[in-house]
Amino acid sequence: MIIFDLQCICGVQFEGWFNSRDDFDRQHAEGKVLCPDCGSEKVRKILSPVSIHTGSQATEAVPSHLETGASSALQFLRSFQDFVEKNFEDVGAKLAEESLKMHYGVEEPRNIRGVTTAEQEKMLRDEGIELLKVPLRKKETGPKLN
Ligand SMILES: [Zn+2]
Repeated sequence: MIIFDLQCICGVQFEGWFNSRDDFDRQHAEGKVLCPDCGSEKVRKILSPVSIHTGSQATEAVPSHLETGASSALQFLRSFQDFVEKNFEDVGAKLAEESLKMHYGVEEPRNIRGVTTAEQEKMLRDEGIELLKVPLRKKETGPKLN
């Protein structure tokens, strides 16, 4: 069983339970995935917010002014966004894959950021990998999963 976060064209978000990703794809293609609110079949999978995976040096790498210098939460967030954008490699939809490689020592730990689906996040949690969610500013050419 896997669960997808879905959103209807009417704006309602809901969870869909499926036997597998293929099962979802088939039902979706056949228009059988319906919004529980309005009954529309115009639903799509929604991506979770951008997630980052920190390498082992991550905490030391965070500049101290991030902890003390910001005079408001918004400034703090902006500093942090800048920091993440500058210091985390954007691996886009490969975040889960790359996190796993580092987890198993296939690749050197490093700071990466990207997007994950709810399904990938659950899989990573099951592996003992924690992701940090950061609300990054939207970019026109953001990574897309599909
Ligand atoms: Zn709807």
